[in-house]
Amino acid sequence: MPAFLPDATQGVVRSLDAGDLRACGIEALQTNVFHLMQKPGSAVIKALGGLHRMMGWDGPIVTDSGGFQVYSLIHQNPKFGALTERGMLFRPEGSQRRFQLTPEKSVQLQVDYGADVVICLDDCTHVDAPREAQEASVVRTLAWARRGKAEFQHQVQQRGIGPEERPKLFAVVQGGGHRDLRQRCAQGLLEVGFDGFGLGGWPLDSQGQLLLDIIAYTRELVPRELPMHALGVGQPDNVVACARLGYDLFDSTMPTRDARHGRLYVLNAGSDKLSDDWYSYLYIGDDKHIRAREPLELGCDCACCAQYSRAYLHHLYKLKDSLYFRLATLHNLRFMTRLMAGLQKEDITRRHREHGDEGQERGQKEQRDS
Ligand SMILES: [Zn+2]
Repeated sequence: MPAFLPDATQGVVRSLDAGDLRACGIEALQTNVFHLMQKPGSAVIKALGGLHRMMGWDGPIVTDSGGFQVYSLIHQNPKFGALTERGMLFRPEGSQRRFQLTPEKSVQLQVDYGADVVICLDDCTHVDAPREAQEASVVRTLAWARRGKAEFQHQVQQRGIGPEERPKLFAVVQGGGHRDLRQRCAQGLLEVGFDGFGLGGWPLDSQGQLLLDIIAYTRELVPRELPMHALGVGQPDNVVACARLGYDLFDSTMPTRDARHGRLYVLNAGSDKLSDDWYSYLYIGDDKHIRAREPLELGCDCACCAQYSRAYLHHLYKLKDSLYFRLATLHNLRFMTRLMAGLQKEDITRRHREHGDEGQERGQKEQRDS
């Protein structure tokens, strides 16, 4: 850790297969119950032997509970559904079917899908929502997390899954921008007991800036040895900032969506410290790339940079060829995994500094043993 998980929201990281993902160093994937239960549907996923078999992916899979998606759907337009103490009832746009998500059902489906990390259903709020709404969300999130954990224990027992094989169970810390509410939520969840935690709520303010104060405070509420997932954080600068605050897991559709839309990430030469303009956006659709013979990024070892010029990629982009989507996505994901490797190195150095000589000796021993 830390690790970046691309979003395979509907069971696919668009245009890449499991071999491609492994080739760019991806260790784990994030999927989403809200989307998967609609397409391809829970019965299909079960019939195909679960998410790992279906996707040909043998690494860890985190399934998000869908709380955020249902919230944004219902929040944007109440005619799409309703939220009650029991759970969420919704009918997505264009769909004739109604779906129900309760804390219990969300956990059941995630276990059915074969998730390695199950996330309890939470009641997500907007950061600008009034205090009463934030308080209600904390009360509901705590109640749902208790129900989620009870159901999880029941599922594990019923299926005869041993303590070593069972998935990890995470809960989400809500509370908006209020420190006392975040504290109340984290404290309550810690008392119930979970394997890890997620940062709940939208992580950016209305200007698109990371809410650093509350994000840092929320991390401090959870003991360092318990992993914390910065849900939905994926913009490279934001990943660096949150990793430095002690967050371990990140997921976002941004790097892959940016790739498909022609916005590619390039590490600036000599900026391995990840500070001050350490990366740039390269817009591959720009005319200046028409004859550019160099790769996207000289220092990158991805399959795209190893073989192809910017000019060729520009050509594929203009054609909207499926090869463009694959190569561009490979590059942006490789950028993210190289970024994570840089942050891991930073983390090891920091721990050695904190633990002084003892840590260094342990580090040397680890090296000898490996
Ligand atoms: Zn590359």
